[in-house]
Amino acid sequence: MKDEKWEARVAPEELRVLLWDIDGTLVRSARRGVFKDYTTPALLALFGTAGRLHDLNVSGMTDLQIVCEALRGEGFTTEQIAARGAELCEHFVAGFERMASAGDSLYLALPGARAVLEAVEAHPRYVSSLLTGNVQGAAFWKLRLVGLADFFTLPGAFGEDSHDRRDLPALAAARINAHLRLDLAPSQFVVIGDTPNDIACAKHFGARSVAVSTGRTHSAADLRPYQPDVLLDSLADAEAVLRVLDKL
Ligand SMILES: [Mg+2]
Repeated sequence: MKDEKWEARVAPEELRVLLWDIDGTLVRSARRGVFKDYTTPALLALFGTAGRLHDLNVSGMTDLQIVCEALRGEGFTTEQIAARGAELCEHFVAGFERMASAGDSLYLALPGARAVLEAVEAHPRYVSSLLTGNVQGAAFWKLRLVGLADFFTLPGAFGEDSHDRRDLPALAAARINAHLRLDLAPSQFVVIGDTPNDIACAKHFGARSVAVSTGRTHSAADLRPYQPDVLLDSLADAEAVLRVLDKL
């Protein structure tokens, strides 16, 4: 079984868990505005308004946080919004299906994403999981569309888990430790993402961070001041990615 491959091959203290962000890291929308195109009708259907969604810069935020921010001042509590997480996810997926069936290509895998995931899967030191602001159903819809879903069989942390991304690494780590029956230290987790929030959530937990400047919103110069352990221009060179991971 994929999840137990590490057991025979590496001591637990050598293991590193790679916690992958999706948007801007593994996957990119084929055009600007895809996120708001599927989120706006979902909010209208569930809450009767999209609030100030169109004024928000949502990069690095969890879906729950985005909805809370969009609807701030509209009279909904965080608890009321969180309680509708499953319905939100259904509406998101319905939105994807609607746009895809209209011929919209929606998402592309970023250069090198597949090669890096294959390389780390084959390497005894690594397992991969997801740490993303996407609600889980949306996360896997996007990954299936670009053919990357099968790399992610371990539990992770998702956009419905918290309105604060800084909560997600501890949640992912607890789930992964329980699943693998291990007690891995925070420093054995590596958050890989494209925004300051990815770096901040790693630091909050005591994990390592790899920032990639392939997102639409943050250049390498934007990310550097947040002091990720590693800053990469892209995942395009799988060997180079493996070399930097080896030092973490
Ligand atoms: Mg991202």
